[in-house]
Amino acid sequence: MEENQEKNIQNKVAIVTGSSRGIGAEIVKTLSKNGYNVVLNYNKSKELAENIANNYSNVFTYKADVSKYDEVKDLIDYTMKKFKHIDLLVNNAGIDLVKTVTDTSVEEFDNILKTNLYSAFYASKEVLKYMINQKCGHIINISSIYGTTGASCEMAYSVSKAGLDAMTKSLAKELGLSNIRVNGIAPGIIDTDMNSFLSNDEKEDLYKEIPLKRMGTVSEIASCVLFLENNPYITGQIIQINGGWNI
Ligand code: NAP
Repeated sequence: MEENQEKNIQNKVAIVTGSSRGIGAEIVKTLSKNGYNVVLNYNKSKELAENIANNYSNVFTYKADVSKYDEVKDLIDYTMKKFKHIDLLVNNAGIDLVKTVTDTSVEEFDNILKTNLYSAFYASKEVLKYMINQKCGHIINISSIYGTTGASCEMAYSVSKAGLDAMTKSLAKELGLSNIRVNGIAPGIIDTDMNSFLSNDEKEDLYKEIPLKRMGTVSEIASCVLFLENNPYITGQIIQINGGWNI
């Protein structure tokens, strides 16, 4: 079992969507090590999710397909029932689609938008009912560099992330009065399953465009979640973590 490292904030409660693997899983572990009670949301990877919960005593798993409003509502209701308050929502769940626009079906476009963008609306809408009453809270949306730059053959994905960035800025403006912060993190290319389709040659080609000449790590994203949590004067920002790819 990992021990809580900072007992002083052990009562904080976080939900991390899509956190059975990759960036989300690392965010869960980082928050847990820093004393948070964390609800780890998964959809398909039950075993991976349960492995994490077995190793971190303050992590609790909940299955929900975040592209479905009712399931997201159940996830938030479960968390409220269990902990009575929610301090942090990390909208992390996401899927990619690498296809030309003409090859992209209407169903595929819809699925990307529902999983990456609508999910964040569903979760924010539900969690804010409680956060507004609490007069405090923080939402972090995991976006992508492509939300700003766009990406050839990843139009649907880029659109979903650009929408997420607009959601971040709009909600930060709307909710400041209620002492609720909303921020985004926009990774470049990070070493997770999402990029496992890339060949070594394709990776080398990408590194030529990145000043730091490598992929980022999941911990380089998770540590930013903690940084944003710990600075109460940051809101409406989308932090770019990409090795200088967009300079
Ligand atoms: P990943 O390794 O492919 O993991 C994706 C996670 O999302 C899994 O835990 C998966 O859960 C979950 N998920 C997918 N569809 C879901 C659904 N309908 N309901 C609930 N959970 C769902 O991806 P990652 O690289 O960690 O990406 C995490 C986030 O970072 C995404 O939003 C992604 O767009 C963003 N991002 C990643 C990169 C990168 O280079 N990796 C770059 C920029 C932005 P199950 O397996 O349990 O279904």
